[in-house]
Order: sequence, then C-alpha cells, then structure tokens
Amino acid sequence: MSLPKFVPVAHMGHDAPWLQIRTVAEVRERRAYIKTNKPEHERPLRLKLLKTVKEPLPTKLAKAYAAWTEVYAAWVKADAARAEVDAALVKASAAWVKADAAWGRAIVSREGVAFHKKVCGCAWTPKKPDILLQLAT
Ligand SMILES: [Zn+2]
Repeated sequence: MSLPKFVPVAHMGHDAPWLQIRTVAEVRERRAYIKTNKPEHERPLRLKLLKTVKEPLPTKLAKAYAAWTEVYAAWVKADAARAEVDAALVKASAAWVKADAAWGRAIVSREGVAFHKKVCGCAWTPKKPDILLQLAT
C-alpha cells in the first residue's frame, strides 16, 4: 500500500495550527478552495501565507514529524486490517443469518417435530409453540 506524500505546510487556515502535516493533494485543494470560496479581500494574504515549508525542520520538529509519519503508516496498515475484518464479519453475518433461518425451518419440519415428540413429548407443535399454553390443560 502506498502512502500519500506528506509535507509540512504553514497556515492552511486562519485558525489552524501554524504548521501542519498534510498531503500535497490537500494543499492543492486548499489553494483551490481559497481561490473560489474565500472572500476576495482575504485571498492574497491566505495564498501568500499558505506554503509548503521546504527548509529543514529543527530537531524537535523533525523528530515529531518522523514519529507522526511512522505512526500514520502503522495506522493505515491497521485500518486496512480492520477493513478486511469488517468485510469478513459482514460475510459471516450473512451466512449466519441464512444458517439460523435454515435451523429454524429444520426444527419445525416433519423430522424436527418427530424428534421433538421422541425427546420431549409435550404438547408443543409448530402451530402452538408457546409451551405455557400447556398450563391451561
Ligand atoms: Zn416439548
């Protein structure tokens, strides 16, 4: 799985953290958004200050950036595994619903009723399944 290319970017928004880790595509989309959706008088300043930082990061920021990207990669891997599990669960749930319905039909089939008579023998029938009705007799 390939990860998107991340960059440090300054001033993605007026009230956002001053430096964020974003994808190149996000930066491009934000620039386009500013050009079409922000008030015209704000656009020059927003576009001037929103920039990908090319300078080497100071040590503390570089370490945090490296940790962020490493953890993000692990998160992407875990999320993909979760998606696979979710898909397997959906498939298993559908199979279980089908099997449970088949079980429900089997226990009221002729064989199921005959087996009930053999192992229990009470007045239960598929048409009168409430065993408490037997209290009235
Ligand atoms: Zn019974």
